[in-house]
Amino acid sequence: MTMSALGEPCVLLKLGEIVLKGKNRDVFERRLISNIRDALQTLDIKVDVRKRHGVIAIFLPQGATTDQAEAVAQRVADVPGLVWIHRAWRVAKDPDAVLKAGLELVGESEEVKRGARFAVRSRRRDKRFPLRSNELDRLVGGAINDEYGLPVDLKNPELTVFIEVDRDEVFVFTGGIPGQGGLPVGSSGRALVLMSGGIDSPVAAYRMMRRGLHVDFLHFSGIPFTTSESIYKAYALVRKLDRFQGRSRLWVVPFGKAQQSIRNSGQDRLAVIAQRRLMLKTAEEVAHRIRAAALITGDALGQVSSQTLTNITAQDNAVDLPILRPLVGWDKTEIMAEARRIGTLEISELPDEDCCSLLAPKRAETRAKIEDLKQIEKRLDAEELCVQLADSIQEYTL
Ligand code: ATP
Ligand code: MG
Repeated sequence: MTMSALGEPCVLLKLGEIVLKGKNRDVFERRLISNIRDALQTLDIKVDVRKRHGVIAIFLPQGATTDQAEAVAQRVADVPGLVWIHRAWRVAKDPDAVLKAGLELVGESEEVKRGARFAVRSRRRDKRFPLRSNELDRLVGGAINDEYGLPVDLKNPELTVFIEVDRDEVFVFTGGIPGQGGLPVGSSGRALVLMSGGIDSPVAAYRMMRRGLHVDFLHFSGIPFTTSESIYKAYALVRKLDRFQGRSRLWVVPFGKAQQSIRNSGQDRLAVIAQRRLMLKTAEEVAHRIRAAALITGDALGQVSSQTLTNITAQDNAVDLPILRPLVGWDKTEIMAEARRIGTLEISELPDEDCCSLLAPKRAETRAKIEDLKQIEKRLDAEELCVQLADSIQEYTL
């Protein structure tokens, strides 16, 4: 084994919006660090997660490989609250050690072979370090230029060597991967997502996790009049989304019989919106039981007839809890692109028998009157029905 100047591999994390927080920044950082520790438990690598000034550092055990560091970086890239993840090297706080590490890192890079334009960017978080950041830039940059003949380009470099002088060590790294951004999951509380097997609701769930909500998932299946396919789909979607928050739970309500009673109530054109209100009322009952403070749906304004402004008003009127609709202003193409990016699209596009297909009138009402809906609900005894539906719920834990 050759001696390396690079020291130990580690992973350096840059925080997102948390840095804008004032007094309670500490609370957010602690939440983020605990989320990172939880996420890394699945990896079977013993790591040491440390808060530094403005950044978080993850140290790997002695002798850890770069593959292990890469696995750690990839895993934390899914944890909301981070904007950048850098695979870095932890070097002694000594200009000569930093210089050697910088040289070795460039020497090992792909860019060195093709004579790429480069820059060095140093930051001194610990002002006691003997060199100022521009002096460090010049020292390391000059040496790289001498050793490999690479041209310096400060404006538009193809390769950047980052040097960050910290309290106990210096971090040296080249690229990085973008994080999810947003806020740590849990820092905004808990909510309940109404999760169909469709494209929109998983994206809505993801967007709200990124705003700091830990979410539970609630799916209405057409059982006993449909197969269990839609449940498998919802479950597969929840599994896909779990990497962003952990500890996900899927709740399933057998909704077929309730739908049948709505259909039998005779108001064909109002059936879709009446059933949506019943879903929301049931969701509110479930939310109270699991202490969720809001409901989340994948509604986008105008996308389908149940999503006109009048019908959205009729939905909001059904419950007291706030209904969050993160996709309200999104186009279908934008939602699909996001679904592809987070990996839910291919699951959502699998065929299934959605419970909504049980109730598809030839022409759905776009301007549902709340009074008419309340009449239907009175006949159904909706208040009692949604308690019964919540009682019949089944839980699926990952
Ligand atoms: P999605 O792609 O999320 O299914 P959609 O475009 O099909 O949405 P709708 O069917 O009108 O639109 O549903 C609007 C929202 O109502 C969904 O995003 C979801 O939050 C909720 N919803 C619809 N069907 C169900 C269901 N079977 N179980 C739970 N929630 C549902
Ligand atoms: Mg749907």
